[in-house]
Amino acid sequence: MQATYFDGRSAHAFNVEVTLDSGYVSVVGDGIDRRDPLGAVEITDALGGTLRRLRFTDGASCEVADNDTFAALLAQNGLSSSQVSRWERGWRPALLALSMVLVFAVVGYRYGLPFLAQRAADNLPESALNSISYQIQRVLDRTTFAPTKLSGTRLARVLNAFDALLLPGSSKLRLRLEFRDAEELGANAMALPSGAVFVTDQLVKLTDDDRILMAVLAHEAGHVQLRHGLRQIIQSTVIGVLITWYIGDVSALGAAAPTALLQAKYSRDLEREADRFAVQALRLNGLSPALLAEALDLIQKSHGRGGGDDAGALAYVSTHPATAERLTWLRTQ
Ligand SMILES: [Zn+2]
Repeated sequence: MQATYFDGRSAHAFNVEVTLDSGYVSVVGDGIDRRDPLGAVEITDALGGTLRRLRFTDGASCEVADNDTFAALLAQNGLSSSQVSRWERGWRPALLALSMVLVFAVVGYRYGLPFLAQRAADNLPESALNSISYQIQRVLDRTTFAPTKLSGTRLARVLNAFDALLLPGSSKLRLRLEFRDAEELGANAMALPSGAVFVTDQLVKLTDDDRILMAVLAHEAGHVQLRHGLRQIIQSTVIGVLITWYIGDVSALGAAAPTALLQAKYSRDLEREADRFAVQALRLNGLSPALLAEALDLIQKSHGRGGGDDAGALAYVSTHPATAERLTWLRTQ
């Protein structure tokens, strides 16, 4: 079969004869004489009607004079036209492998990681919870929190209401309220794995109705009881470690845990679990579950009213997304 040969070093086109036999490609003519195993030759597809090329490992290449003649030549040697394209043989398995990796990554991220994080969170000893929480609290106190500016009487009222609040099971034992001023964070409450629940002045100032605050605290108590914060930290730390390992920079990792807890959005599932816990708690106290919906509404509005909005990812509503679905569910309990 006639073909044009390029040696890969000069622009000179050599007129050659290409033959195939017993797994070898021979190129002869115009001073060229080479013989290569077929497996070491890349044969391009006739993309968009272009002439097919044979590419050799040393950079030389050969353009066939006619695709049909070449296909016939391949057929004579028992090769289908597509079988021989090394490029094609190469990318299909590669693409398959890549998509499998992606599927595993997505499934692992969506299901495997939360499962492992839950197992790990459930098995961490109390001492670990306390030391993780202590680290987080130190960072928060340095960066985000200032001492509370609420009056002693207002604090006493919230604390009394909290003391009287009944919670399911033994969950109350571990909880401890902490008040902080957090201008940037706005109205927010957050529970650390140890059971320390941080309530911002901005949240307390939202309402005079302490039952609404208790609804928020019942929701936070749910996150503590079900170890959600811990799961969140473990998950984002695992991801952080993987990213760090990939990028090769360990320096950023140390500071990651507190922000992970603040910024990581609880999943819908975790929110629903905490809501269910809160509803149970509110009922236990003869209070309406709708109080939590009211609280979420108030919080959301406070963040929407400018100023607090630049807190962005740190806003309570973004870490505990108050979806319409949640509010409706709470109001119909
Ligand atoms: Zn929540």
